[in-house]
Amino acid sequence: MSNSSRVLVLNCGSSSLKFAVIDPLSGTLELTGIGEALEQNEPTVSWKIGGEKKTSPLPANSGHREVIHFLVNNILRECPNLRDHLVAIGHRVVHGGEKFSHSVLVDDAVIHTIRECVALAPLHNPAALQGIEAARSAFPYLPQVAVFDTAFHQSMPRHAYIYALPYELYRDHGIRRYGMHGTSHRFVTERAAELLNLPVNEVNIISAHLGNGASVTAVHNGHSVDTSMGLTPLEGLVMGTRSGDVDPGLLMHLGARLDYGLKEINDLLNKKSGLLGISELSNDCRTLEQAAAEGHDGAQLALDIFCYRLAKYIASYHGVLPQVDALVFTGGIGENSSLVRGKVLSHLGGLGYVLDEARNGRARFGEDGPISTEQSAVTLVIPTNEEWVIARDAAGLVPPTSPNGDPSSRE
Ligand code: ADP
Repeated sequence: MSNSSRVLVLNCGSSSLKFAVIDPLSGTLELTGIGEALEQNEPTVSWKIGGEKKTSPLPANSGHREVIHFLVNNILRECPNLRDHLVAIGHRVVHGGEKFSHSVLVDDAVIHTIRECVALAPLHNPAALQGIEAARSAFPYLPQVAVFDTAFHQSMPRHAYIYALPYELYRDHGIRRYGMHGTSHRFVTERAAELLNLPVNEVNIISAHLGNGASVTAVHNGHSVDTSMGLTPLEGLVMGTRSGDVDPGLLMHLGARLDYGLKEINDLLNKKSGLLGISELSNDCRTLEQAAAEGHDGAQLALDIFCYRLAKYIASYHGVLPQVDALVFTGGIGENSSLVRGKVLSHLGGLGYVLDEARNGRARFGEDGPISTEQSAVTLVIPTNEEWVIARDAAGLVPPTSPNGDPSSRE
């Protein structure tokens, strides 16, 4: 990889495609953008380059393929300095099942295996496959790399990932805990090791990724040994619109007593619960903080439950790790909400956590550092950067013999 190497990172959701061109050495974002409302009436693509923002409509029903075409034929055509330095394309893939514990170069066999994992991520993996197919035909001269959200958690021991269900459900159907947000937890682990001056394979942390989705991971010697999300992203913490852990008996109760069908239960637990459901106001932490400050009881309760449940998970991970070098907050809420961080630590005094109010108040705007006092168990804020991990992995997997593209084959 040379100093001028760049990686195109693609993150395909069910109705969106985020893209970025990144310098894998420094993490500098040269171009960012998003195609939205895909396969709907009025899709758009927006992008930002050199501080300048632009938006363009796309033809009705445009999908991932059309966004990639627009990227190649409009955006990158005007930026040959970026296009000509692309060495790889990195794809975020949500579910790699048990097949992928690391990022891999995409070939037909890898595509086949990602397709086999569609049952585990029915909304996300098909979108990633569309992105991979479209990128392969748009950039046939570039290596494609798949980076899996589940990969970092493949190091979990069996006692952490097997549910207490009939074992045949695992054996015959792969029903087990997989965990998500692995790319973020991995980034945070590596950065925490740097900040703590420890080799990555000796660092023990508890990493709390708090965004719209939220999960917490116990990391032992640089490896995930437990995490709060399970077979699906629904398990674990209270999230923006997801309930997190509930009594499984609730599902029977809803069905038998309140006549809920499967789709309604799915909508209830994934889209109508969490911060939104409790507060009856919003899934957005900022809105809730403001409303709580103005006396909105539901907003206050939602924030209280969010923090309490997270603190319980953190406390339980203290029980499974031999030592904890740092508790780390990341994600939109973890990086920005001094209120949430303070509230979580206030539950954890018994484990030696003492908040430094001044540090906690200062920790935002993309900087990493401690928010606890010198005497406290170490608590850090580390802004996550999943795109950079994807770009680094992709650049690192470029075959040494691969030319930096064959210009004659370019569009
Ligand atoms: P996603 O999971 O969609 O990537 P993010 O990591 O961007 O989400 O996190 C979104 C959450 O971060 C929202 O709940 C938002 O309110 C919260 N957030 C962002 N900035 C702040 C802030 N300054 N204070 C409190 N919460 C914030």
